[in-house]
Amino acid sequence: MMKRILLTTLLPLLLVLGCAKAPVTGRTQLIMLDPQQEQALGFQAEQEIFKTEKITKDPRFTVPVERVGMRLAKATGLNLDWKFYVIEKDTPNAFCLANGHVFVYTGLFKYVDNDAQLATVMGHEIGHAIAHHVAEKVSVNMLTGIATAVAVAAVNEHVKSNEERMLYDAALGIGSQVGVLLPYSRMQESEADHIGLILMAEACYDPREALKFWGKFSKLDRKGPQVPVYLRTHPLSAQRIEKLKQWMPQALEIYNHCQRKSPNHSIKIPRKRSSPLGMPVS
Ligand SMILES: [Zn+2]
Repeated sequence: MMKRILLTTLLPLLLVLGCAKAPVTGRTQLIMLDPQQEQALGFQAEQEIFKTEKITKDPRFTVPVERVGMRLAKATGLNLDWKFYVIEKDTPNAFCLANGHVFVYTGLFKYVDNDAQLATVMGHEIGHAIAHHVAEKVSVNMLTGIATAVAVAAVNEHVKSNEERMLYDAALGIGSQVGVLLPYSRMQESEADHIGLILMAEACYDPREALKFWGKFSKLDRKGPQVPVYLRTHPLSAQRIEKLKQWMPQALEIYNHCQRKSPNHSIKIPRKRSSPLGMPVS
C-alpha cells in the first residue's frame, strides 16, 4: 500500500515540482523545496551560526566584505535580503546561506591581496546560493529517501513495528542538518566556480585574479594535512584552475565591456590582517 501511494502520487508530484535551471550554466536541476522552505533552512542555519560563532564588527574586515559583497549582489540581479558578516576565526573560509546572508572568516584575509580576490571567494559562495545548491542537496536526499522507503515498503509491507516507522522517518527526514552539513558535490563546486567567475566579471572585477588566488591554494594543496578547511571541502585548486581557464574568455568579454564604461574597482587589501591566533592585528 505504502509503495503504491508513493509511486502513484508522491513521486510524480515531486518531479513536477522539481524542475529548475541553474544560472550561468543553464543546468537542469531537481529542486523539491519551495522558496519558503529554502529560506527557512537558511534562517535555521543562521541561528546556529550566531550562537556558536563570534561576529566581528572590525571595519578592516567588514568594510571590504561589504564593499565587494554589495557589488556582487547587484551583479546577481536578485533582490535577496543581502547581508554580509565577518566571523572572527583563523580559517580561510566563507559561505553564503540561501537567504543571501554571506559569512566570511577573518582567516581568509591572509590569502587575499585585493577586492578582486575577495570577490573570487565571495562570488563562488554566492554562486552556491543563487544556484540553490543546498535545496538541491536536500532534494537529492529526499529522493534517495523515498526510493529507500519504497524499497523497504516493498519488502516489509506487512511490518508495522516501531523500527520500521523509524526507518521511514530517517529515510524521508530532511532536517536542516542534512542540507547544511553535507558537502557540495564536485559538480556543484565547479558550477559555483563558473557562476562566481561570471559574477565577479559582471561586478567589474578582473576575473584573472581568480587564477592568482587559486594558484596560491594550489601550492597549499601539496602540503597534505596542513591544507586549510576551505580546501578540504572544495576541489583541488589545480583542477579548478584548468576549468577557470576554459571559462575565462567569456568572463573577460564581460569584464572588458565593463572596464570600458567604468574604472578598475579592485582595491588593494593589505596582507596579514589577522594574527596566527585569528585576532585582528591592531
Ligand atoms: Zn564551494
